[in-house]
Amino acid sequence: MDHISDRRTFAIISHPDAGKTTLTEKLLLFGGAIHLAGEVKARGAARRARSDWMKIEQQRGISVTSSVMTFERNGLTFNLLDTPGHEDFSEDTYRTLTAVDSAVMVIDAAKGIEPQTRKLFEVCRLRSVPIITFVNKVDREGRDPFALLDEVADMLALDVCPMTWPAGMGGQFEGIYDLVDNRLLQPEAGTKDFQGKVEQFTGLDDARIDEVLSAEGAERLREEAELATGGYAAFDGAAYRAGDLTPVYFGSALKEFGVDSLIDAIARHAPPPRPQPAEPAPVDPTDDRVTGFVFKVQANMDPNHRDRIAFMRLCSGTFKRGMKLTPTGHGKPIAIHSPILFFARERELADEAYPGDIIGIPNHGTLRVGDTLSERADVRFTGLPNFAPEILRRVVLKDPTKTKQLRKALDDMAEEGVTQVFYPDIGSNWVIGVVGQLQLEVLLSRLEVEYKVAAGLEMAPFETARWVSAADPADLKAFTDLHRSAMAKDRDGNPVFLAKSAWEVGYIADRYSKVAFAATRER
Ligand code: GDP
Repeated sequence: MDHISDRRTFAIISHPDAGKTTLTEKLLLFGGAIHLAGEVKARGAARRARSDWMKIEQQRGISVTSSVMTFERNGLTFNLLDTPGHEDFSEDTYRTLTAVDSAVMVIDAAKGIEPQTRKLFEVCRLRSVPIITFVNKVDREGRDPFALLDEVADMLALDVCPMTWPAGMGGQFEGIYDLVDNRLLQPEAGTKDFQGKVEQFTGLDDARIDEVLSAEGAERLREEAELATGGYAAFDGAAYRAGDLTPVYFGSALKEFGVDSLIDAIARHAPPPRPQPAEPAPVDPTDDRVTGFVFKVQANMDPNHRDRIAFMRLCSGTFKRGMKLTPTGHGKPIAIHSPILFFARERELADEAYPGDIIGIPNHGTLRVGDTLSERADVRFTGLPNFAPEILRRVVLKDPTKTKQLRKALDDMAEEGVTQVFYPDIGSNWVIGVVGQLQLEVLLSRLEVEYKVAAGLEMAPFETARWVSAADPADLKAFTDLHRSAMAKDRDGNPVFLAKSAWEVGYIADRYSKVAFAATRER
């Protein structure tokens, strides 16, 4: 097998508490990357890679280990990219999703689609990222499986295809039935734990089902499974890869039900690295020349160091340690001598990476989110979105002599994707925008600790922002001239309309049909 078709680079999306952390642990456990105590076992080359990043963590106070988790199974390499679990996520989360080829959506069986699941799903949809759904916590009382499937179908406008089915939930839970392979995964007697007890059947009409399930359970399973296979779309690999259909697996991350099936599903169905949108043309993973883009920059937690780690997703070519790559559009070639490679144990070549892999590049702030790095000069990856902030605040400087430092700090953090910054056309109060409350606290504390700037935030008379553009510059000018007091520039000088409310955006957009009001901006 080549080193492209054996890669699966994916993320888990979910609302807090749905079980992402538990599932991640179990995936790593089944993938052999960790052992029961959660300790990372390192040997040979992997030990080298591991000590590399531990050294970096110690020296620079950067925690990188959890950002990318790589494990191998049955000859495939899985790169699991972590998205922050906190409810107040930043653009960081969104951008991480631009670096994956597929996603697993975890849903709590008792709760269904929750707000953050939905938001993250919308980001996946923007890029047609294929989604496998895992309905978690079937060991507890949950909602009716049909209601859950219908909710996914209706709320997300996706075809759903159940691949497994719970034989009861909560108190009635008797196992998980695999609708494709006609196997029943069963809990150990007296528990709800899965430890490998599997019964193979010829089909749902196999009489032996009555021997292993309660009479009631067998009848319910037959009835429901029949309805489920008849009532929903059949599995269609192409529709899944196009992001139009989601195969659904039921399970319990905690009790280890369905985790194996989920890994198999990713192995069997999830796409290997796909061509990435770029200018002048999409980059195919089979292109020999090394290309990649930075989707995340993690700054140092230690204020005495200015080091950062840029996370690059490799899109084509074979990366080798020490290789020189040029950031498109700015700067000289950078020799990447100490890349952080997130390899599983037992890997032999810790010095190479392939399309789909993530490389951590230590740097001093030269690399920005959205940067393309390549061996060729003429390529630029597109489609890393900026999102319309949901919270806008004015920054008030406590010491007016620190204007320069403040601007530098705001620009830096905008580069990292922590916050967005808008410079109003009129007036001197800069406005920052975030998508979650937590980011405001992070901003203030970093201003003080890292940049020694004392600042406060006050309410802004705006609630949201839209990037404006028009085919005819005269239309844009007519609009901006009339709305001067609400116009600002983003960090890259693009015009932005600051709106008092989402309602105002709708109202104005109706009246200025020749002006486009975008809630996301691709950079
Ligand atoms: P996250 O916030 O999405 O990362 O969720 P966690 O993995 O931290 O899980 C949230 C809570 O749900 C924890 O108390 C877990 O032990 C529990 N949990 C996770 N998966 C399951 C499951 O399959 N069954 C049950 N009963 N509890 C679960």
